[in-house]
Amino acid sequence: MSGGDSIEERIAGVRRRIVEAARSAGRDPETVRLIAVTKTHTVATARAAVAAGLHDLGENRTDELVEKSAEVEARWHLIGRLQRNKVRDVVGRATLIHSVDRRSLVEAIARHAEARGLVQDVLIQVNVGEDPAKGGCRLAELPDLVSYAASSPGLRVVGLMTVPPLPGEGVGPAAAARPYFRALREARDALRSDHPTLEELSMGMSADLEAAVQEDATMVRIGSALFGEREEVIR
Ligand SMILES: *Cc1c(COP(=O)(O)O)cnc(C)c1O
Repeated sequence: MSGGDSIEERIAGVRRRIVEAARSAGRDPETVRLIAVTKTHTVATARAAVAAGLHDLGENRTDELVEKSAEVEARWHLIGRLQRNKVRDVVGRATLIHSVDRRSLVEAIARHAEARGLVQDVLIQVNVGEDPAKGGCRLAELPDLVSYAASSPGLRVVGLMTVPPLPGEGVGPAAAARPYFRALREARDALRSDHPTLEELSMGMSADLEAAVQEDATMVRIGSALFGEREEVIR
């Protein structure tokens, strides 16, 4: 934490940003869910977040999700890359898997969910900017992947997720990210007549949440604005 702000003050600050962005877009702020990204932070931090009123927590690594979800009661979201051999650990533990980006993952999730008699909610991650450092399918591959996932038993596709490329020098993060967020919204809107379950748009992080909310994000994934800076790369 920097600046000596308490977790409550930081949450209030992020909520204020969401409310202002939603109002400026004529949206109801209640339709934007705040997912607190606790990656690299301790179980104690996750617990403090829940005590302060945050009920959706996100992790980008399977092992951290498994470890913290065993200790802290919350809706846990897997927001980072998923390996096929880790699917077993996540199905049923994660409220929502945000990072499904290929058929082999759909198959593995479907298999484990079916075997356990549950339905796993997932988002399809799209690499809108075709950034080699990021996960996600290409926009061109999205309709096929959504159809494939939608026809698979054991999982329900409830929306789309993206992580935009890092902004270039001298470009504000929100302005840089907005075209990618808009493209994801348009992709969801185009797919919706065939796939009415596609409601969610998981997009927007600490630096660019305003742009995401203005483009109809239903979930923003916020780490550093709540818990302070980290020192690793986001994929
Ligand atoms: C770390 C991470 C976030 C949160 O990023 P901040 O800039 O710290 O808010 C959001 N989404 C994904 C996929 C991440 O890995």
